[in-house]
Amino acid sequence: MSVSQEQKISSTQTLKDDQNLQCQIQNFIRKKDFKSVIRILHTNKKSRINYQKLKYENQIYHVGQNLCIRGDNRSVYVAKLIKIVKLLDNQNNCIPFIKVQWFTRKTELMDLQKDYLDCISENEVFKTNQFDYIEIERIIGLAIILSYEEYDHIEELNDNIFFMRASYIDGKLFPSFDQWKKICVCQRPANPDLKYILCEMCQQWFHLKCIGLHQDQAKKLNKYICSQCQN
Ligand SMILES: [Zn+2]
Ligand SMILES: [Zn+2]
Repeated sequence: MSVSQEQKISSTQTLKDDQNLQCQIQNFIRKKDFKSVIRILHTNKKSRINYQKLKYENQIYHVGQNLCIRGDNRSVYVAKLIKIVKLLDNQNNCIPFIKVQWFTRKTELMDLQKDYLDCISENEVFKTNQFDYIEIERIIGLAIILSYEEYDHIEELNDNIFFMRASYIDGKLFPSFDQWKKICVCQRPANPDLKYILCEMCQQWFHLKCIGLHQDQAKKLNKYICSQCQN
């Protein structure tokens, strides 16, 4: 067999594979079996066309933006938009899917030790190395992910504002918990969900609990000076 014949055979084979794949995808879309479509998207690089932006419910989303994603039973997930792919069904309708990189939230970290969990905020996210293809109907809207310092200074919080100070990869935090910035006399990382008071002198935050102040007492104080600054 000459080289050119071999090449011809192999290219015909690829074309046939492509057609089979297209048929398979179309069947899955017709049956609304999105799980199988997503499996193909995971395993076969030829099945997709990439786009940089997507319009969904009057909002334009760009690759690289962070999104709030509808989870099971009312939970909200946070993810980075990595890829936008579109498939065609046999009526030439476009079926878009997105590839996302997940952020973990406190509710998914319940096997961490309690000591750590006490310092983690409900609005804190951790970047993971987990990716998925999902249907665009699961997009709720844009998510804003700030650094801890930015989040600490923000005046008004919304449901879509989160902060991140670590990643969560293969069951480990990076940077590790003991490297997180510490505050107060207890020298533990801040959890913005708890109540704090600011020392007017050193500009450090203190847990009300740790300095033995009740919330009502703290409200009545004009200013607070920590015990270290008083000495
Ligand atoms: Zn404390
Ligand atoms: Zn102080």
